[in-house]
Amino acid sequence: MNEPIKKIALLTSGGDAPGMNAAIRAVVRACTYYRIECVGVYRGYEGLIEGDFEVLSGRHVSNIINKGGTILKSARSMEFKTVEGRAKAYENLIEAGVGALVVIGGDGTFTGGLKFIQEFNFPVVGIPGTIDNDIYGTDFTIGYDTALNTVVEVIDKIRDTAGSHNRLFFIEVMGRDAGFIALNTGIGSGAEEILIPEKDIGLDKLEESLAKGRDKGKTSSIVVVTEGEKIGKSVFELGDYIKEKYPAYDIRVSVLGHMQRGGSPSCFDRVLASRLGVAAVECLLDRVSGVMVGVINNEVILTGLNKAIKLNNEIDKELLRVAEITSV
Ligand code: ATP
Repeated sequence: MNEPIKKIALLTSGGDAPGMNAAIRAVVRACTYYRIECVGVYRGYEGLIEGDFEVLSGRHVSNIINKGGTILKSARSMEFKTVEGRAKAYENLIEAGVGALVVIGGDGTFTGGLKFIQEFNFPVVGIPGTIDNDIYGTDFTIGYDTALNTVVEVIDKIRDTAGSHNRLFFIEVMGRDAGFIALNTGIGSGAEEILIPEKDIGLDKLEESLAKGRDKGKTSSIVVVTEGEKIGKSVFELGDYIKEKYPAYDIRVSVLGHMQRGGSPSCFDRVLASRLGVAAVECLLDRVSGVMVGVINNEVILTGLNKAIKLNNEIDKELLRVAEITSV
C-alpha cells in the first residue's frame, strides 16, 4: 500500500439487509468528499469476477438512503471460494485501476475479503451488513434495528388475533445460529416464551412455562422461536408436538421469513450505515486494511477481520433475565 489510493471499489454480498443502500451512499459520498473515485461492483463477488463495474458519482446515490435492499444487488459466489476465481477478481480490479475494496456483508463476505488480502496483499475493509447481528466487533450490524421493528410490528398484529381466538402462536424469526432478533423482539412484543440457540431451554421447560401460563389464566400465548433453534424440531414439528400432548391448545405456526429483510431502514440503521461508510473510506485513506468498522458503546471501533469472523457476539444475560421476569 505505497501508492496513494485514487479509486475504491464497493460491493454488497451475502444476504441483503435494510441500510445497505445508506452505507453505499455514505461510501460514495465520502469518496467524492475526499476526491477519489468510487466504483460500484454489481452482485457481490460474482460481479468482481465478471468485471461488472460502474463508476458511481455522488448523484448516483441520490434518494437511496430510505430504500431497502441494495442498488448494487447481492449474490452468493461459489467461484470466489476458489483461488482461480479470486485471481480473476484481482486482475479485474487492477485493470480498472482500483486500489482498495470495501465489502458490505456478513461472516462469509469477510472470510472472502480476508483471503483476498492474504493472497494479493490487496487492501480490504469490511462493513457489517446483516439483520442477524451476529458479528463480533460491533454492538449493532446494519439492518438489525429495522428487522427488530418489522418483527415487533408483525407480532403485535398476530397478538390481536391470538387474543381474539385464545390461540397459542409459535412465531419463527430469522437469526440462523444467533438469537438476537428473537430475544429482543420477544421482550419487545411481550412474548410468553423465547427459544434461542444460545440458551437451551428444552421442551420440558417450554411445556412447564405454557402450563403455568394457563394455570394463571392466560388464554393466548406467543412463543418466539429462532430459525436456528437447537430444540431438535422445526417450528412446525414443535407446534405438532405440543398439539399432540396438549390437545386443548389451539395452535398456529407463523414463519415470518423474508419480510424481515425488507422495508425502509430505520433512522438508527441509516445513521449507523452513514457512520460506518465514512469510517471505511477513511480507514483505507489512512492505509488501514484487514479490519471491519463497527460501533461499540457508540464509538466507531476497528476490529481485525480475522477476529470478526472467529469470535461470537455474546447474548446479553441481563436481557435473558428481563425476559424471564416479564413473562411470568
Ligand atoms: P449473511 O450473514 O447475510 O449470510 P454472509 O456474508 O455471511 O452474509 P455468505 O453467503 O456466507 O454471506 O458469504 C457471501 C459470499 O462471500 C459468498 O457467496 C462467497 O462468495 C464469499 N465467501 C464466503 N465464504 C468464503 C470463503 N471461505 N472463501 C472465499 N469466499 C467466501
